[in-house]
Amino acid sequence: MTHPVLTALGLSDNESGTYLGNGEWSKTSDAGVLEPVNPTDGEVLAKVQATSQADYDQIVERAQAAFKVWRTTPAPLRGEAVRLCANALREHKDALGSLVALEMGKSKPEGDGEVQEMIDIGDFAVGLSRQLYGLTMHSERPGHRMYEQWHPIGLVGIISAFNFPVAVWAWNAFVAAACGDICIWKPSNKTPLSAIASMRICNEALKKGGFPDIFFLINDAGTELAEKFVDDRRIALVSFTGSTKVGRQVGERVARRMGRSLLELGGNNAMIVDETADLKLAIPAIVFGAVGTAGQRCTTTRRVFIHESIFDDVLGKLVTAYGQVEKKIGDPTDPANLMGPLNSQDAVKAYEAAIEKARAAGGKVETGGKRIDRKGNFVLPTIITGLSNDAEVVQTETFAPILYVMKYSDLDDAIAMQNDVPQGLSSAIFTGSLKASERFLSAAGSDCGIANVNIGTSGAEIGGAFGGEKETGGGRESGSDAWRAYMRRQTNTINYSDALPLAQGIKFDL
Ligand code: NAD
Repeated sequence: MTHPVLTALGLSDNESGTYLGNGEWSKTSDAGVLEPVNPTDGEVLAKVQATSQADYDQIVERAQAAFKVWRTTPAPLRGEAVRLCANALREHKDALGSLVALEMGKSKPEGDGEVQEMIDIGDFAVGLSRQLYGLTMHSERPGHRMYEQWHPIGLVGIISAFNFPVAVWAWNAFVAAACGDICIWKPSNKTPLSAIASMRICNEALKKGGFPDIFFLINDAGTELAEKFVDDRRIALVSFTGSTKVGRQVGERVARRMGRSLLELGGNNAMIVDETADLKLAIPAIVFGAVGTAGQRCTTTRRVFIHESIFDDVLGKLVTAYGQVEKKIGDPTDPANLMGPLNSQDAVKAYEAAIEKARAAGGKVETGGKRIDRKGNFVLPTIITGLSNDAEVVQTETFAPILYVMKYSDLDDAIAMQNDVPQGLSSAIFTGSLKASERFLSAAGSDCGIANVNIGTSGAEIGGAFGGEKETGGGRESGSDAWRAYMRRQTNTINYSDALPLAQGIKFDL
């Protein structure tokens, strides 16, 4: 029987994973099958038919044709198309939020929150469509004018991770659409249903509004088509969100063909709690940061450095709070639960392996440390002490709710340890000291793309540019001027004089 959450969105238990454009979904049934699993009970939710090479080629040809029209459509009109998508998502927020919770395993409020992020970035992109500003410059030559303008870049390939199965697409697609690009999306093969539902909602809204196809969808049961997609010269920009391991390969392959990539990869985010911190803020921030989405956010808090004078007190409070969370672990579609399952059995194995490694390295499990004996992929949120920051397991992003808690005595040491990991995504300090806060935010402070004061590491707003440094990949998405990644810059010089003065005063007498 089809799960009621799927039925509510008009999905059946055998769906095409390929949107070809012109309102058509592919009928291909021999390109492999994806079988997304409900992480709560291990049952297959539905079959999703993968995209064939022929379907893919047809999509790229249609996308190229669509780009010729879309690139000269006035940007504010492109914004209107995005506005219709955001409004349609408003109408379907509850149903789509439930599907995200069901298929990915995050809690229902987090599933709804993810759809809200889609709506928010939609609103942002509508405004942006009237603000794709370039600069004007003063020419060194008389009778000359110089300026720069931003043109659409072309076809944008979006490859997204399982943990944000819909918001990451919207961050990219809505901004790219306002910029005049056409998007082809390959979602995670663990969460294709959320992608199909999002595409249906948005493409129906576009059709009703009289807009052409600007969003296409492909699905791959393995990685063969995904790799061809990455290597395809017709895809001007590949925006990849996922692990550092796969992202490194994607970045190298795109660079080899001189394409552009935008990489949003793994994090190993830390929080510093100094002796002046307000623990009423710090404790819930640590717990939400470490346990929210069962530790499966790129911005999840994985390390905490606590000043030695308050270490025992903070650790005790954390262990008590984890005890509260343990009582609210369960079916993520039930809004009463705070924590759902891990997304896959592989993730449970990675969780167990990390805990074993931590123990072997001398770590002490303060709470949690094992899977829960029930159907599905449920584990206990875990706190480990007694490890140093340079332990291999602490240096590695394990995508699970494991928190390494460490002690420090000097703030500069804490900042140095915080920075001393391969990743550079998100960071935070809890402090009542202006000096400590400013030191943390200074050029000699946090080396991450996100640095917060008295707010945790996770839960970014769409208004700022989102992304991180080092092995997090260097990409920026969402707000601020991240839109520039989806456009090409052109510098223009116009001579309105009767002479031809050369730059730098060069004489070239003929
Ligand atoms: P993953 O790297 O396993 O998969 C990401 C995407 O890449 C999926 O769509 C997958 O199907 C695809 N893929 C796999 N092999 C490929 C290949 N050879 N060529 C092209 N595509 C391929 O990551 P995941 O497990 O889905 O997601 C978790 C990871 O994503 C974590 O490391 C997390 O930190 C990271 N993440 C980062 C951000 C960010 O913004 N920085 C956001 C969300 C998740």
